[in-house]
Amino acid sequence: MGKTLIIGAGGVSNVVVHKCAALPDVFGDIVLASRTKSKCDAIAEGVRKRLNRTIVTEQLDADDVRQTVALIKKHKPSLVINVALPYQDLAIMDACLETGTDYLDTANYEPLDEAKFEYKWQWDYRGKFEKANLMALLGSGFDPGVTNVFCAYAQKHLFDEIHYVDIVDCNGGDHGKAFATNFNPEINIREITARGRYWEGDWKSTDPLSVKQDFDFPGVGVRKMYLMYHEELESLAQNIKGLKRIRFWMTFGEQYLTHLRVLQNVGMTRIDPVIYEGHEIIPLKFLKAVLPDPGSLAENYTGKTSIGCVIEGIKDGKPARKFIYNICDHAETYKEVGSQAVSYTTGVPAMIGAKMMLTGKWKKAGVYNMEEFDPDPFMEDLNKYGLPWQVADWNHSVE
Ligand code: NDP
Repeated sequence: MGKTLIIGAGGVSNVVVHKCAALPDVFGDIVLASRTKSKCDAIAEGVRKRLNRTIVTEQLDADDVRQTVALIKKHKPSLVINVALPYQDLAIMDACLETGTDYLDTANYEPLDEAKFEYKWQWDYRGKFEKANLMALLGSGFDPGVTNVFCAYAQKHLFDEIHYVDIVDCNGGDHGKAFATNFNPEINIREITARGRYWEGDWKSTDPLSVKQDFDFPGVGVRKMYLMYHEELESLAQNIKGLKRIRFWMTFGEQYLTHLRVLQNVGMTRIDPVIYEGHEIIPLKFLKAVLPDPGSLAENYTGKTSIGCVIEGIKDGKPARKFIYNICDHAETYKEVGSQAVSYTTGVPAMIGAKMMLTGKWKKAGVYNMEEFDPDPFMEDLNKYGLPWQVADWNHSVE
């Protein structure tokens, strides 16, 4: 039984806390800490009602390494699950190193003042974690996370050589709002408005959302998807041997894109400070404050997410193409834990990654991405804990 500290009390955290609390044999005492303690208390209350388990709550500003060190020393967890924001990753990793605690997150580090994300900053901690005999597991959400494990599974069981990977992500749900994001609005809008990038021997870049095509998503139907940069491309391009090209695609509706275009045109997605009535404000942070909280979308959400990897390569000397995917229903996840499917598809893999570490199935000193471990126990747990997957022969290649 491991004692776990979960940092962050947003949409994803609600799922992680519920899913960990449902497995008392693996997750002993659970402490939940975040910047706004009342949000921790609300999650703890939901867990008490649904599962009759007590979660200890604490206030924490995880940007301050000393505060996190003090909290870890107080509670002595063996693992920290970071589901706060990407800005806190390095500070929490530093606190883990200082206190001898393992680390897990779902999104790679991003500096506050630059809309740029890459693994370099966290990969630079490899030596320190190895030396301290500690483990950090990076990107244990759905994408990154499950998509990395799907690729590792394909490499182990379905192909002799993998040549092409297209990660396709569709939220076919409807929350009934004119414009809202499904996870943290600031992080989401920074990601979507960035230039597209994909790997084909080297990195190629495209104008934001300029490359698109239709894709028939199981459980949802045909949707337009757009080429974007996503962090798992960086590690998979290194770890999947023989790869010739890897890309990431996400669907957006016309209404969403029109709102985004207007917000960009009027300067509301800027991340540099502007002076407003004598105070400095960051337009994107202000926008986040007026947009719906992603957690609040859950109650009336209908429809499904459909996310997976189309993988092409060679099996037994012949060309093969497979699609490994999961379909998740917003209304069902709401019924189970009070969250929408985008939070659920991120929170369940965070719990499973933590379970892999606490039970010793995935355990190595250093800093790792998901595809560097045996995919089998993780794939088994996806089926067990709410994210069942399918493998299909796939007739159409992604253009
Ligand atoms: P939310 O904005 O809903 O929640 C973030 C939480 O972190 C809030 O409770 C927030 O506190 C807290 N927080 C922010 N700054 C600090 C700080 N300095 N110290 C302590 N707590 C802090 O985000 P989500 O739940 O939607 O997303 C959580 C993470 O999951 C993000 O990193 C996101 O990028 C990642 N993600 C990963 C996905 C994947 O598939 N891999 C998919 C979706 C999300 P407060 O309430 O006070 O603001």
